[in-house]
Amino acid sequence: MNVSTLQQKITALKQTKKAILLAHYYQVPEIQEIADFVGDSLELSRKAASTEAEIIVFAGVYFMAETAKILNPSKKVIVPDVNAGCSLSDGCPPDKFEEFLKNYPNHVVVTYINCSAEIKTLSDYVCTSSNAIKVISTIPEEQKIVFAPDRNLGNFLIKETGRDMVLWEGSCVVHEAFSLEKLIRLHQKNPDAVIVAHPESEAHILRTAHYIGSTSGMINYIKSSPKTKFIIATEHGILYKMQQEVPDKILIPAPSKEDNTCACSECAFMKMNTLEKIYTCLLDESPEVFLEQEIITKAQHPIQRMLQI
Ligand code: SF4
Repeated sequence: MNVSTLQQKITALKQTKKAILLAHYYQVPEIQEIADFVGDSLELSRKAASTEAEIIVFAGVYFMAETAKILNPSKKVIVPDVNAGCSLSDGCPPDKFEEFLKNYPNHVVVTYINCSAEIKTLSDYVCTSSNAIKVISTIPEEQKIVFAPDRNLGNFLIKETGRDMVLWEGSCVVHEAFSLEKLIRLHQKNPDAVIVAHPESEAHILRTAHYIGSTSGMINYIKSSPKTKFIIATEHGILYKMQQEVPDKILIPAPSKEDNTCACSECAFMKMNTLEKIYTCLLDESPEVFLEQEIITKAQHPIQRMLQI
């Protein structure tokens, strides 16, 4: 089936089954085109929490679909590919994290939403890159904090909030693929360009950035900026949505350490989702995300705390 036939079939199935297709900004354009909602982790969590649909098809990675299930336990949450993981989430196994936390008994645990449901059950607060500073600022000054699983976002938060936090040593393979040397050379060729970066990027990349923010933060910044040229240090898929929002501006992806042939600035996990897989999963209503009730109840608490903040 060609792209437009598949898109039509998915759209028809969504209507028949009263399903909603939620897609992350990192999805390929043909998925974003037919999604009912496209957003970053925080926006997708809010949408998942408020939807009236009976089935949620989640085109993102697995921890995001789990979050949708935690917020909507009575709804059916299905994913195009159960193997669409995340290096941050996979790099923080629950048993190892539980052991790690034993070293920090008097600490409040703040976890980035890019972690498994089990890790969320071990957390006091969940946050996204959009609201991490806000979440941390609600915790009393004297309270010690463990932050997991992203050390780059953690170091950025230490710098921004001045808080002393213990960090779990995890990272995003995509945001660690940018080359500082190539970025500097690119900026020398385009001195009028503004560098924007996601806080999952390494500290030396963030030091070169004129603006650091979440996916939606970057889009809003570029929309409201009077400048016309931007170098974007985050996953390549965001450029599709950004270019729609600012058709007259020039957007240049930040270069990767490796040659572009490896598509290092693309998240291989996000790109596991395809229109074919979305069609099949909607048709079969499978694979479905299942979580034990105890995990759902425990994980709801830190997520709801974040949504209230
Ligand atoms: S871009 Fe990085 S943090 Fe985001 S899903 Fe992919 S591996 Fe995980």
